[in-house]
Amino acid sequence: MIDFSVEPEFQAKLDWMEGFVREECETMDILFPEQGAQFDPGYKAAKRHLKPLQERVKAQGLWACHLGPHLGGPGYGQVKLGLMNEIIGRSSWAPVVFGTAAPDTGNAEILALFGTPEQKQRFLGPLMAGDIVSCFSMTEPQGGADPDVFTCAATQDGEEWVIEGEKWFSSNAKFASFLLVIAVTDPEKPVTERMSMFIVPTDTPGIDILRNVAIAGDTDSEDGHHAHIHYNQVRVPLDHMLGERGGGFKVAQARLGGGRIHHAMRTVGMCNRAIEMMLERAVSRHTKGKMLGEHQMVQSKIADSLVELEQFRCLVLKTAWIIDEIEAGRMKHGASRKYIGMCKIAMASVYANIVGRALEIHGSLGISLDMPLAKWYGGNMALAFADGPTDAHKSQLARATLKRVKPAPGMFPSEHIPTRRAAALARYPHARDAVAPETEAAE
Ligand SMILES: Cc1cc2nc3c(=O)[nH]c(=O)nc-3n(C[C@H](O)[C@H](O)[C@H](O)COP(=O)(O)OP(=O)(O)OC[C@H]3O[C@@H](n4cnc5c(N)ncnc54)[C@H](O)[C@@H]3O)c2cc1C
Repeated sequence: MIDFSVEPEFQAKLDWMEGFVREECETMDILFPEQGAQFDPGYKAAKRHLKPLQERVKAQGLWACHLGPHLGGPGYGQVKLGLMNEIIGRSSWAPVVFGTAAPDTGNAEILALFGTPEQKQRFLGPLMAGDIVSCFSMTEPQGGADPDVFTCAATQDGEEWVIEGEKWFSSNAKFASFLLVIAVTDPEKPVTERMSMFIVPTDTPGIDILRNVAIAGDTDSEDGHHAHIHYNQVRVPLDHMLGERGGGFKVAQARLGGGRIHHAMRTVGMCNRAIEMMLERAVSRHTKGKMLGEHQMVQSKIADSLVELEQFRCLVLKTAWIIDEIEAGRMKHGASRKYIGMCKIAMASVYANIVGRALEIHGSLGISLDMPLAKWYGGNMALAFADGPTDAHKSQLARATLKRVKPAPGMFPSEHIPTRRAAALARYPHARDAVAPETEAAE
């Protein structure tokens, strides 16, 4: 049975969230527009506002909802999380206020899944409490997303691992208390067993941030949030490995599924907000004697946006439902993979289309920084690269699907009409006769 309804008790929580995010989190976005203000532990004024908001979320039982009860969260499952993230996605402060900000969400998940009791106590505890920020350091400047060519390596020296190499686009490294670094420990092994994951506290000597790279939508080109790091003979004790030696790829994979779907859920929220802006503008401004919304081109933009978002939302919620079914043991592991890929593929273009149309309907005001749309539009391509490039997901989805397809049995495709007609007539030779012969009628 397919049921799109939401239980009244949970709807009440969503209603509370909607009011809280609009009233409080969106207000913080306006008060502290500096990129990353909500993450920066040194930004005293922002911190002073953040803590009480986080306490209110905790009091509602809505803190860190991406984690199941066995991992220290309330465990609502992905469908409910999807509905929550639609609301959280409206505001750049909200993910931090609700303890569900990337990259901390994924980092908390893998610490909870693979961490030793000591690692959990030292790193996961403060992360879950919202007292610190973390970073995931995997992509390399020469290798991008391709683990085959990762060169950052860790070698054992007595009681320590020594990490040497460069990482690229390590988001939030400048705010983080620790970094999760994937490094090659066993170069002779196949790629999935070649790397290990390390927890590296940021006060360890040798972590040289070469630059903090800014992206479209950031305000300061020399002070962005995506660090190019040189791990210059960085030493960590042996017990700072997360998971098993050679298990870094597995740990990283465990992290990415959740991250991708959470981004997709929040994208629904941002698109909803862009559509709200689009609609308000359409009924507020006149041109050529008519409301904007009475012009057919504007109507077309509104209709296309509503349809695209509804399609994307259904895909995201179906994917979330499949993940919940897997968790409940009713579907096989891996059943969600292609759907997560589809969400990742659709996300950047749906977002670009809807935010782009909202911007266009606002004209010069839309492209100005007086509205949030230009900044959102500028940042949209980030969605196409973060957590793996869209093209890689497209390629993977097509290859996985093609693997299960058989070639046509003869020279023509199995839907070739003349071939099918010949087969149909062989089965019913008198089908087109004006009077059905006795024999065929008797069959
Ligand atoms: C906002 C943002 C935040 C990020 N945060 C982090 C982070 O915190 N930690 C981290 O480690 N990394 C992070 N990344 C890096 C991200 O994981 C990489 O951008 C991504 O993996 C792609 O690598 P690349 O940018 O080097 O592009 P490349 O790998 O060079 O890819 C460039 C293009 O090549 C094509 N391509 C590449 N691979 C394939 C393939 N397999 N099949 C088909 N086509 C392909 C695609 O067209 C792709 O767009 C972040 C990126 C962004 C944009």
